[in-house]
Amino acid sequence: MSCVIRLLEPQLINRIAAGEVIERPTSVIKELVENSLDAKATQIHITVRGGGQSLVRIQDNGHGMVEEDLKLSVHRHTTSKLSHSDLWNIHTFGFRGEALASITSVSKATLTSKVLDHPHGFSLYIEGGTQHPLKPIACETGTCIEIRDLFFATPARLKFLRSPSQEYIHITHCLDRFLLLNPAVSFFLRLDEKQKIFEATSLENRIQHLLNMPSTQGFWLQTQIQDITVTGWGALPGAHRRNADRLFVYVNQRPIEDRMLIQSIRFAYQDLIPKDRYPCVILFLSIPYSDVDVNVHPAKTQVRFKAPQEIRAVVIAALKKALMQNGQKSVNIAPK
Ligand code: ADP
Ligand code: MG
Repeated sequence: MSCVIRLLEPQLINRIAAGEVIERPTSVIKELVENSLDAKATQIHITVRGGGQSLVRIQDNGHGMVEEDLKLSVHRHTTSKLSHSDLWNIHTFGFRGEALASITSVSKATLTSKVLDHPHGFSLYIEGGTQHPLKPIACETGTCIEIRDLFFATPARLKFLRSPSQEYIHITHCLDRFLLLNPAVSFFLRLDEKQKIFEATSLENRIQHLLNMPSTQGFWLQTQIQDITVTGWGALPGAHRRNADRLFVYVNQRPIEDRMLIQSIRFAYQDLIPKDRYPCVILFLSIPYSDVDVNVHPAKTQVRFKAPQEIRAVVIAALKKALMQNGQKSVNIAPK
């Protein structure tokens, strides 16, 4: 019998990987906003049509890319962010170098970018992973990435897309996480015909704007135990919700989804709100980079802690202390 194993075509490899990185239109927005923030943008314009399937356009005023970088950016495992193979010391959102490769392999994409010291920028069109020649273009410093017809190249995924209105709920929640993390960045949002502007401001104002309650209806918290620091804001228990849509958790400046942390937060509030309800909390955890692994899943929203029990204890202690100081006296301070 002859040899039957062969290496897959790069385009097919990218489309397979895209299934994990780009689960839905919201994932495109998340990845592109992360890239803009990594590029130190202070203004990000986001346009979405048809729930993100027909169009996602993210334009930033970040540092942009030179011609060669623009060409490389859409290849797999090409990144400017990971140096010296140091997976334990990642200070950027990105590090895997696969978002643009994945997105552009399943869509029709136009990438335009210009760096400050260059008189003009370059534009690159790529359809289903096939690159067209770069063209010089007059544009502002920064990057604009336009994604059309998402998943046109993977009809199976296309079939599983939800309605635009359902997708907008996910998109809004995803953007809320970045809005709270980056109050000093201006976000200009257009979801179909709806327009929203979030000018650069303080965290206090962002909370008020997004959670629709003055930050005086809650408390600020700050606790440090050994080398773990917890800061953030919690609403007073009266503002409980039916789901976790007002629970925001960040680890080392990265929005994450973590059941243990959500449970810890709920535990801290458990004597104060009904059992089936969720508090409104924004929690920023700062943990030594060597104690948390962010390379768990391509979407980078999950992390693994070296000592999860310690983290849980610190989060509960921080919240209970703050709740007590703010007159919520029935709370027992010791975590169980
Ligand atoms: P990663 O973010 O993990 O490096 P991506 O595929 O998301 O991988 O991006 C590849 C590279 O393209 C980035 O490392 C960065 O150098 C460049 N890049 C992507 N988006 C932008 C942007 N908005 N501004 C400047 N550079 C960008
Ligand atoms: Mg990225």
